Amino acid sequence: MTDQNDILFERARAVIPGGVNSPVRAFKAVGGTPRFIQRAQGAYFWDANDKRYIDYIGSWGPMILGHGHPAVVEAVQKAVLEGFSYGAPTEREIELAEAILALVPSMEMVRLVSSGTEAAMSALRLARGATGRKTIVKFEGCYHGHADALLVKAGSGLATFGNPTSAGVPPEVVQHTLVLEYNNLQQLEEAFALHGQDIACLMIEAIAGNMNFVRATPAFAKRCRELCTQHGALLIFDEVMTGFRVGLHGAQGVLGITPDLTVLGKVIGGGMPLAAFGGPRAIMEQLAPLGPVYQAGTLSGNPVATACGLATLKEISKPGFYEALAKKTRTLVDGLKAAAAVEGQPFNADSEGGMFGFFLMNELPQNYATVMTTDNAQFNALFHGLLDRGVYIAPALYEAGFVSAAHSEDDIAATIAAARDIFRKR
Ligand SMILES: *Cc1c(COP(=O)(O)O)cnc(C)c1O
Repeated sequence: MTDQNDILFERARAVIPGGVNSPVRAFKAVGGTPRFIQRAQGAYFWDANDKRYIDYIGSWGPMILGHGHPAVVEAVQKAVLEGFSYGAPTEREIELAEAILALVPSMEMVRLVSSGTEAAMSALRLARGATGRKTIVKFEGCYHGHADALLVKAGSGLATFGNPTSAGVPPEVVQHTLVLEYNNLQQLEEAFALHGQDIACLMIEAIAGNMNFVRATPAFAKRCRELCTQHGALLIFDEVMTGFRVGLHGAQGVLGITPDLTVLGKVIGGGMPLAAFGGPRAIMEQLAPLGPVYQAGTLSGNPVATACGLATLKEISKPGFYEALAKKTRTLVDGLKAAAAVEGQPFNADSEGGMFGFFLMNELPQNYATVMTTDNAQFNALFHGLLDRGVYIAPALYEAGFVSAAHSEDDIAATIAAARDIFRKR
């Protein structure tokens, strides 16, 4: 039988760089042919060969209700009939803003945009504009989208700033970005002692989902808050992944920490291009048209995307939603751990709400460098083993996983059984 994914991949590579519109989709880390998805429903999607997979990426987080939730589909269909985009304000934007603010008490105002990259980039500009400072602090392994100033790796010491990680980013553009090790309290203290009066903001994924799944320790997160306050810098929680994913109030709710600015995306669009950033009124009023910090977008607050986001937020706000989702995700994580233990596979895993990570090592890593000590070949064998058995996890070992409300106990049990089979035969 000819593999339709192979045929599509060849066609795609002729017209799209690498055949994909976002690099991780290309399976470069794990090898093999990317699966071209035809359709999705509930916890599953089907590739070009009509093979079914249990989906644990959920569009990298947004599909928290599963695919094709009837209430969301209905809201989107209704919105489409009313028009795709107007470039003028709508009542639905107010409704979504009100819904977001009700769920994230640290935000008094919010601006809607179309992607997480755009939201993080705009929050950064706002922080610099509001403080009149240049320096930004970020952590190795945290991803905040692909704005120039954020495509940076650590320099050779705390006195030196970062180096670009992408061609096309001049070193001058990242010369005000300081990259620190996640969960390294001593480095954090030193950075603020050295550069405190120049720091506009510290941006962090307080539960990191772009180096697999790594939590900031409570002490580390608390110290980030204290040092920012002490030095007049803004604390920015990038909750594009964790917002409405680890819990109804995000990572800030889980940790009990109030950031100055919050960046949201993924779940708030329910699978449509929608993201947001927000915070206290006095800071947000620095934005155009009220203030001097420019920010704009032709499709910002798009009427179809806001309908999708609103319908999604309504469903996840129902009583018991996160309890059920977290329980299901823990069942998966505990089951995988037990299966690995029986088969003698070094393994550990963690989860919060509907987000999880697992590691082919006995300890839970605390930072990016440790995550990256994972045995690549072992991860790739697990990835392809699961794929063959109809289970789709992220095609890279530094990505988190996602469970949706649509995953059934049978789906979870089948996933654990598939993993155990692979561990046994390794
Ligand atoms: C996905 C992600 C982004 C980027 O969002 P896009 O919509 O892909 O631009 C930013 N920050 C975090 C934490 C993310 O997970």
